[in-house]
Amino acid sequence: MPASFVWIELSKEQIEWTGPGGLPTVWRSSEYSSRAFCSQCGSTIGAIDDKPTVAIALGTFDSPNRQGLAPQSHSYISKLPKWWRIDHLKTCD
Ligand SMILES: [Zn+2]
Repeated sequence: MPASFVWIELSKEQIEWTGPGGLPTVWRSSEYSSRAFCSQCGSTIGAIDDKPTVAIALGTFDSPNRQGLAPQSHSYISKLPKWWRIDHLKTCD
């Protein structure tokens, strides 16, 4: 995963996998989460945690400019590109 990445976190109950690829292919990436990929083309979808959270990559949404998808916080401040503006967001590192 690149150092800067926008995730949209949802609960598992909010997600229904309806595309032709069905459920994503997963790769165990840590003790608590797995990375998710399209089972047909390998595109990154996001991460599926063991706790009831699914983090979908912003780039997978058809309409990523919707206000409801705007960032609310930023993690890993030390990896932040200098041009990335986060003045209005909660932060943690
Ligand atoms: Zn695909």
